[in-house]
Amino acid sequence: MSDLRELYQEVILHHNKSPRNFGTLEDANRRADGHNPLCGDRLSLGLKVVDGRIEDVRFSGSGCAISKASASLMTEAVKGRKAEEADALFHRFHELLTGPPDVKVDGKELGKLAVFAGVREFPVRVKCATLAWHTLEAALAGGETASTETP
Ligand code: ZN
Repeated sequence: MSDLRELYQEVILHHNKSPRNFGTLEDANRRADGHNPLCGDRLSLGLKVVDGRIEDVRFSGSGCAISKASASLMTEAVKGRKAEEADALFHRFHELLTGPPDVKVDGKELGKLAVFAGVREFPVRVKCATLAWHTLEAALAGGETASTETP
């Protein structure tokens, strides 16, 4: 677990400092804004979806290191995937963050996202880590906004 914790800190710091796919996607055909009022994290997501596949994705906004790193990793994880695959990945990720401490981490399926298992120890941070994913769901569903405080 200490290895995972070190990796977690390293990944969060790295992606917070140099986020992937950061900026505005000019030819986006789906957009949504996300807000986590508990922490003050805000992000805007632009997607280019063609034939049900996420061809491109970019995010912008400001928030804590966890929300930003999570958004960065999320964009890497879903780019090139079908919307259903992204959806399934979010469910696995959510399970990882909110499941019981002994829940098995499937590193193969989640890839780098598995490092967020460290967030499980800090329930208030779970909202930071899932904000980008809630926003993704809203964008894919054709919505405009997502809040971690909306059921
Ligand atoms: Zn946050």
